[in-house]
Amino acid sequence: MTAASSLPGHPFITYQSGELYVEQVRLSELARTHGTPLFVYSKAAMLSALGAYQRGFAGRKAHICYAMKANSTLGVLQVFAQAGCGFDIVSGGELARVLAAGGDPAKVIFSGVGKTRAEMQQALQAGIGCFNVESTAELEVLNEVAESMGEKACVSLRVNPNVDPKTHPYISTGLKGNKFGVAHEQAVHIYLHAARLPGLKVVGIDCHIGSQITEMTPYLDAMDRVLDLVTQIEAAGVPIHHIDFGGGLGINYNGDTPPEADALWAQLLAKLDARGFGDRQLMIEPGRSLVGNAGVCLSEVLYLKPGEQKNFCIIDAAMNDLPRPAMYQAYHHITPVQPRIGTGDVFDVVGPICESGDWIGRDRSLNVQPGDVLAVLSAGAYCMSMSSNYNTRGRAAEILVDGDQVHLIRERESVFDTFQLEHLPV
Ligand SMILES: *Cc1c(COP(=O)(O)O)cnc(C)c1O
Repeated sequence: MTAASSLPGHPFITYQSGELYVEQVRLSELARTHGTPLFVYSKAAMLSALGAYQRGFAGRKAHICYAMKANSTLGVLQVFAQAGCGFDIVSGGELARVLAAGGDPAKVIFSGVGKTRAEMQQALQAGIGCFNVESTAELEVLNEVAESMGEKACVSLRVNPNVDPKTHPYISTGLKGNKFGVAHEQAVHIYLHAARLPGLKVVGIDCHIGSQITEMTPYLDAMDRVLDLVTQIEAAGVPIHHIDFGGGLGINYNGDTPPEADALWAQLLAKLDARGFGDRQLMIEPGRSLVGNAGVCLSEVLYLKPGEQKNFCIIDAAMNDLPRPAMYQAYHHITPVQPRIGTGDVFDVVGPICESGDWIGRDRSLNVQPGDVLAVLSAGAYCMSMSSNYNTRGRAAEILVDGDQVHLIRERESVFDTFQLEHLPV
């Protein structure tokens, strides 16, 4: 390999002279300096993914609220805060992170089915932009909390458009059987109720139909369903100032071909205009599509274990670092940072954790030896933010690459860190 060749779907991750780079930084070097497992993120990749949305919304009144549960590391949040993004949060903890990273609370929207009173208070004190309310019971509690503080909480109701996003059942959220949102049929009634509650100010409507969506049709269908509701709700006398279409756009993990954000929004905005809602304030809540393919996880090969039915390649990253394969049977591409010549063997790539579910990739052709470093791709979203200490493994370190600059944005967690809040009973 002579000229730089980027990996499909990963324009900022390239092989140059037989070595894998993120932007201008050699990954073998990072692994040597910082150890493994190590998450490495490209700032340019994040800004480029954001840029596709910004192009899509050029000339529109639109707020992009990064759904930070995809990756809530402060250094990642700062990139998006400085680029002008708001944040979609799902807990008081996430709100604290936004503030610590310099995010604007006025651009925060608070989603989730189980907000506590304490979280509502915290969010009202911080002055967040909007609560995305998911049930009648939550409306009542939020009204009480806001009244007791002498405040008015801005609310949007999350409606369930009953659209199949054609994705994994665990990440499908807009179907009738899901716990999310209020039923389409009851929405008008609940809006009328919300409008009468003195502690609330109805400002918007929102939906979020699922994650890793790779087709346009579910979005177009959901938009139609939501706009039908806006028409009905406004006819009933409750004005809707903003429409929030949620997140969910997929990324290329394994030859997936989701639409580009700007192409998707060209179609969606055409529909919005055709239906006469083109001048509305818009919001979106993308998570995975902003960070997923900006990150890799570096991991060292510990052992090769040939077997009768399977060969195992045992690496030092595990399901506590990379939970998606175990949770969703998800695919992550795996590639050596310094590829060897030749074809090698077929392996199941697994971690050291004592669970058969601890696999990272199945049936992968790899030419590797112990000590080699592998890059697990598409590891920017729902990896570090879902990581755990299972098997008393400290969490990995994280690096943000910006051109040739290397920023350590999270130190490796020590074993002491993992038990410092515990007490021996005697
Ligand atoms: C998780 C979530 C998102 C982001 O989903 P992605 O698939 O990561 O884009 C947006 N909105 C809500 C309410 C969510 O729960």
